[in-house]
Amino acid sequence: MPQQKAEKNRLYKVLGVAPNGSEADIKKAYRKLAMKYHPDKNAHNPSAADKFKEIGHAYEILSDPQKRGVYDQYGEEGLTGDGGMGGGMSAEDLFSQFFGGMGGGMGGMFGGGMQPQGPKRSRDIVHVHKVALEDLYKGKVSKLALQKSVLCAPCGGRGGAEGAVQVCAGCNGQGMKTMARQIGPMIQRFQTVCPDCSGDGEIISKEGRCKGCLGKKTISERKILHVHVDKGMQDGQKITFNGEGDQGPDIIPGDVIFVIEQKPHARFQRKGDDLYFHTEIDLLTALAGGSVAVEHLDERWLTVSIAAGEVIGPGSVKVVRGQGMPSYRHHDHGNLYIQFDVKFPADHFNTPEQIALLETILPPRNVPEIPADAMVDDVALEEVDQSQQARVNASAQGMDDDEEGHPGGERVQCASQ
Ligand SMILES: [Zn+2]
Ligand SMILES: [Zn+2]
Repeated sequence: MPQQKAEKNRLYKVLGVAPNGSEADIKKAYRKLAMKYHPDKNAHNPSAADKFKEIGHAYEILSDPQKRGVYDQYGEEGLTGDGGMGGGMSAEDLFSQFFGGMGGGMGGMFGGGMQPQGPKRSRDIVHVHKVALEDLYKGKVSKLALQKSVLCAPCGGRGGAEGAVQVCAGCNGQGMKTMARQIGPMIQRFQTVCPDCSGDGEIISKEGRCKGCLGKKTISERKILHVHVDKGMQDGQKITFNGEGDQGPDIIPGDVIFVIEQKPHARFQRKGDDLYFHTEIDLLTALAGGSVAVEHLDERWLTVSIAAGEVIGPGSVKVVRGQGMPSYRHHDHGNLYIQFDVKFPADHFNTPEQIALLETILPPRNVPEIPADAMVDDVALEEVDQSQQARVNASAQGMDDDEEGHPGGERVQCASQ
């Protein structure tokens, strides 16, 4: 058993990962080691190639849950019948596959065999489209102009007449070339842009060059896209035009994506399909009824009656059902929530006699209850001046944001000023 255990750990040791390491650990270790021992980076160190193969072999098995399971149970012997040892991928292919998924970004770092597999895709064009709440309520079609590269029509994206376009002999059409340079006793190989074709991989004769694109194969074109902003779309929602990105030879065009950004609205706030509206009513309306008008998002005005006898307290919230935003696709409307502020009259708004009448109308005063044996101090109430008020507000905010930075004593100090 100990014999098998030693065998068992060998591949983990190659990658420097614990036998219970996660898939991510294995991936990370492979990435690091494969980059370090890649033969193109180790022209002066022949033993690196063997190490690179060994790393590739270990990763091939440990990154495959099924093979890893067999290996954990039976060791490397268990895999021989499975084609695990002999029939696996070459270390180079494995490396290409592993890094190919990263968009070929490593191409400049390492040598041949590193070309990403399959055609490249041009990058997606992402555009933020700011939309007013009214337009999200009613829906609209925005016509947006897009500047993009398209294949040149006269030459069909070849860059020149047929026959005038030749594969570059200097780089075999790769656009990149491996050069060698001697540094002391060592020969270093490195990749560089082919000087013959400047990286194009082909050469177009001057006479045969397309006049439409001057051999560039693509031209810039202005295209109008009709962006359907549907009723009820939300902030952050995406509208995708598949394949409308830049065209190019041997490139799959990416997408054009519009991301809806809802502009702030002067009257309404939106939460999902609900709308929030803030209004101020006078004290008489709050106590004795009246009405409130709400200018909606589609040119309608809603009138909301407050019945006599219904008392609206400051800050209270009421709901009008079905007057919120339409939901996306189904267009069921959310609710409209109205929060009321109550505007109290100014000082001395009425004569003492009329105010005395209020005592006959409103519920009686609360008489404060003070324990009979308490020491009672009669104190005066004054107006708070503005600078004082600002300081009280600032300190209250500071307490909310960062409790540690403001010891409790400070709040007490400010409040007692
Ligand atoms: Zn070339
Ligand atoms: Zn052309």
